[in-house]
Amino acid sequence: MDFSNLNKKTSDSFHKQRNMLKQLAQGKTLKCEKCNTVLTLDLATSEVGKGAVKCKQGCTDIILDLGA
Ligand SMILES: [Zn+2]
Repeated sequence: MDFSNLNKKTSDSFHKQRNMLKQLAQGKTLKCEKCNTVLTLDLATSEVGKGAVKCKQGCTDIILDLGA
């Protein structure tokens, strides 16, 4: 099997998430690509060291690793 496409996709998404986290940490306002509502960073997740980025509509729901 050829995983190169899959790996590329995962890598892109990883960098995107790191970038999102960086911007949110700087207090910048990010908007959901789909519904255009403001994304919020929820640090009160069940997993230690993780934060959830969500939009109001729920189409963006990403768990970010804050520990790195
Ligand atoms: Zn959305």
